[in-house]
Amino acid sequence: MPISSGLNNDHIRVGIVLPEDNIQNVSLSWSPELKVTGNLSGIETTQNLELSIKSGLIRVGGMSVVKDVAELTLSSSDAVELLTTKSGIRLEPVIAGRGFHWEKMIAVDLPGELSITVENDQFKIINTLDIEAYVACVATSEMGAEAPADLLAAQTVVARCWSLALAEAKHVAEGFDVCNDDCCQRYQGTSFLTPHSLKAAVETQGEVLIYDNRIIDARYSKNCGGMVEAYETVWDGGPVPYLIPLWDGPEQLPGQAVDDFEALWNYEDAYCSSKRFQTVNLAGMLGNVDESGSYSRWEQRISKAAILENLKKYSGVIWQHIHGIRIMERGPSARIKYLFLDGIDESGQTAEQLVKSEYGIRQMFSDSFLYSSAFVIKNAQSLKDDDHVILRGVGWGHGVGLCQMGALGMALDKIDYKAILAHYYPGTTFTTL
Ligand SMILES: [Zn+2]
Ligand SMILES: [Zn+2]
Repeated sequence: MPISSGLNNDHIRVGIVLPEDNIQNVSLSWSPELKVTGNLSGIETTQNLELSIKSGLIRVGGMSVVKDVAELTLSSSDAVELLTTKSGIRLEPVIAGRGFHWEKMIAVDLPGELSITVENDQFKIINTLDIEAYVACVATSEMGAEAPADLLAAQTVVARCWSLALAEAKHVAEGFDVCNDDCCQRYQGTSFLTPHSLKAAVETQGEVLIYDNRIIDARYSKNCGGMVEAYETVWDGGPVPYLIPLWDGPEQLPGQAVDDFEALWNYEDAYCSSKRFQTVNLAGMLGNVDESGSYSRWEQRISKAAILENLKKYSGVIWQHIHGIRIMERGPSARIKYLFLDGIDESGQTAEQLVKSEYGIRQMFSDSFLYSSAFVIKNAQSLKDDDHVILRGVGWGHGVGLCQMGALGMALDKIDYKAILAHYYPGTTFTTL
């Protein structure tokens, strides 16, 4: 029986600039050595194009004659063996961190094909490239350059599985498979590609995990907090047989899948425990993490006024006051599934408000997206009178599937990438396509 996947193609379409980004001017450039072809004559000898929008068409400047076209396509090599740092066509500006508080404009270097069109008077740019080249670039964007080889290999296989399974298929109606951002997987072309991560991609080429003859939906997050979370705690439509609760450590302890926050808080043997990283340069290995490592165990304070603002923003509800928080149900890793806020509404009546989903809870209790929904309320006793809430929590991200910091802990313990993958996705089979 052939192995099935959601993508069913050896190329993937990545949305780079979306109409919602509101971008009407972009520039493209490439080195004289790069062989670029396109649907405009003379493009081969140009190394810089300035694009704007004129009456619903793309105005192409930077060539000897200004031209207006409905669609512009440009192609360069996307063979994974030939990729190098910053190879491909440079496109700017591109939004990174779309919709998050860390949103910024960057330049990205893109191998493969660029398809540029205009939709609602905004640019829409899709990058179609070989799945192996895509996976190599994604693994780099998620990891730091000093990451151990087995961590990179594990992350590369996971990124490949996630892309091929395409279980979420969030963007198919928009004409591409995945977007370039954290909504799907962070992809910034070859801009941050390292020889290290390229090596991992080439050496693991075609390697995937399967379950029931299907490529697995390989979810991952930064730090599980000590126990890997179950799929159905975070998303609808579960359970998924290989995305199940597990102690993220050398042995499975009794009490697994018990809703016990303090047991988790005190569990120090976890592969992702910050104790394991005291003597290593974590940022160099994982990229985009702060040095303190405080996301394994953390404390956050948020004012009630800020929660009231979030309540208005995300639920459309205007309240005068919050006097209680009732946590209703947790998953095995202590991540909260839903809770109720108790308070006084606009007209002075007592009211309750449901806050549901791991995502919704993280949004509600922070102005910059809370590390995780695995927390307890430290000032529960005085909450009625305090003007703030203090949260004591574990982990960073949804906690389902591979724990990136746990995988780092395992790799530092000299555990090879196949054993790392077998730990996080139990019951799956390793194979090469
Ligand atoms: Zn997306
Ligand atoms: Zn973990």
